[in-house]
Amino acid sequence: RDLFKQSDVEAALNAAYDNYKGLQEGKNADYIPALAKVDSKIYGIVLVTADGKVYTKGDVTTEVSIQSISKVFTMAKVIEESGADSIFNNQGVDATGQAFNSIVAIEQNKGAEMNAMVNPGAITATSMVKGETYDEIWGKISGFYNDFAGRQLTVLSDVYQSEAESNQRNQAIGRLMYAYGKIKSNPDRATDIYTRQCSVGVNAKDLAIMAGTLANGGKNPLTGKQVVKTENVPEILAVMATAGLYDDSGKWLYRTGLPAKSGVGGGIMAVSPGKFGIAVISPPLDSAGNSVRAQKAIADISNALGGNPLASK
Ligand code: GLU
Repeated sequence: RDLFKQSDVEAALNAAYDNYKGLQEGKNADYIPALAKVDSKIYGIVLVTADGKVYTKGDVTTEVSIQSISKVFTMAKVIEESGADSIFNNQGVDATGQAFNSIVAIEQNKGAEMNAMVNPGAITATSMVKGETYDEIWGKISGFYNDFAGRQLTVLSDVYQSEAESNQRNQAIGRLMYAYGKIKSNPDRATDIYTRQCSVGVNAKDLAIMAGTLANGGKNPLTGKQVVKTENVPEILAVMATAGLYDDSGKWLYRTGLPAKSGVGGGIMAVSPGKFGIAVISPPLDSAGNSVRAQKAIADISNALGGNPLASK
């Protein structure tokens, strides 16, 4: 028996797509110059059920850069390699109460309590992936993302170049985390690999399959590959729930109950454990940095399908 009735899912996707297609709020991120040039009209919705059904609406082929959504998967790689205590003990899992790229947040706690969804904790997580050389580490990270997506993803080189030229703040963050002993290898290398991982191109379908893999206990519901151990999934989702939508993570959890992660490229992915993964891409962001349409569409669709994991039924 299917987890969801096809007509219910299609109706929910159609309604959300139509309701927000005309919404003109928000604007593309522009602190990374290449992001300002992305077509603001890209709008795609994909839901992947834990039993492997794929539902699509709108533009599901155009790629945007994954940006901060990558943080989830690199953290997952560290947890796979070194256990859930590794990030808990090194950079912590609590919200900082500060912006994702805050220097003050690092200073407040001397590099501690920097969960892996904000840049200090994320660059630190990248530095924790085991490997001797840049290429070895990058190969592991990108291969892991490919397993989540079920296809070979590529770096959007214009986005990578643009951010590599303008990421002095992230370089400072990496060096501070090194100074505080949280990053134990070359911090500039970690920041560069982090910048590359943020530039990986994904479409709405890729992100939904990645989310669907987390919804399905770490097993890609389309390829059948066990990408992360089922026992590691709750910790991954917990950090997403705590800090996945920047400073609006609490508001998001209150409305939907869904562990989710957004990125400044305009994507949001969300996970309803045991039920579905969902992703929406629409580049215009609100003042907190979250895609306006993606938040609204995912909330409506999940609530229509009973996706809130905090609800009793
Ligand atoms: N690469 C971006 C940065 O580090 C990611 C930001 C984001 O998506 O939140 O600034």
